[in-house]
Amino acid sequence: MTGISFEFFPPKSDAAEQKLWQAVGRLAPLLPDFVSVTYGAGGSTRDRTHACVKRIIDDTALKPAAHLTCVAASKAEVDSVIDDYTEAGVRHIVALRGDMPDMGAFKAHADGYDGSVELVAALAQRGGFDITVSAYPEKHPESASLAADIDLLKAKIDAGATRAITQFVFDTQAHLRFRDALADAGVTIPVIAGIMPTTNFAGARRMAEACGAHVPQWLADAYVGLEDDADTRKHIAASVAVDQCRELIDEGFGHLHFYTLNQADLTFAVCRILKLGAAAN
Ligand code: FAD
Repeated sequence: MTGISFEFFPPKSDAAEQKLWQAVGRLAPLLPDFVSVTYGAGGSTRDRTHACVKRIIDDTALKPAAHLTCVAASKAEVDSVIDDYTEAGVRHIVALRGDMPDMGAFKAHADGYDGSVELVAALAQRGGFDITVSAYPEKHPESASLAADIDLLKAKIDAGATRAITQFVFDTQAHLRFRDALADAGVTIPVIAGIMPTTNFAGARRMAEACGAHVPQWLADAYVGLEDDADTRKHIAASVAVDQCRELIDEGFGHLHFYTLNQADLTFAVCRILKLGAAAN
């Protein structure tokens, strides 16, 4: 059976908070393998991420994965976040280098972890955590080459990571090429395909540009002139996501990770139609 997981981000306002918990409530019955909660750029959501993860543990039967980055924090500060997670009952961490608050070149804190490999090693040494890391089918924007990215992924695995989640990709062929490149490089841990179903194509395109994800022309063409037509955008987004997920499943991907953007509708519909999670029953 294909595994599923959902990513949420910690809300900033009361209205956003309500929206998040509505989305969690709608998606929880699908019984995902885990749900992950992001950690804002530069550690800006430290408390909100913690509160969100804690509420998931206290109020739901979901298994949370808390994201954690090395940015703008000493090792002692990061370790104290790990202590807090441990105390809250978190057993799964998505360990990342992270981005600087101004999105400039990464500079490690003078007393901080110097990147994802060191953070993974620290978590592994501490023990008790399932450690997930990132992977980039279309290359990280800062990376010299895809091969360099794969070498870094292997270093994260050697340090203790047992699973990777990919950056979202719109061009399914990129997921397939990456899967093959990882197999050639001897990577055997599960690499979960990241999917971002969204009706806000303009926003998705901006995010794609920032993280180096290619937007296929056929996809851009499908949204031309629909800026004021949310209904049609929603139908297109559902159809595109279903096609992408179906192809990935047919190609043997065993787990799909949905970047929900705290919106349940599309992800729920995709899981229903493809009988993913509890929708299989
Ligand atoms: P890594 O995989 O460690 O490295 C990314 C790139 O940095 C490498 O490809 C390489 O080019 C360069 N690099 C790193 N170390 C070295 C080195 N030693 N030598 C040479 N080059 C190096 N960001 C957040 O702020 N909060 C989140 O919650 C969050 N969640 C994410 C979840 C997923 C699944 C993904 C895919 C990304 C997430 N991000 C998040 C974004 C991520 O923080 C950025 O992409 C960041 O730029 C890289 O962090 P990383 O751990 O992926 O980096």
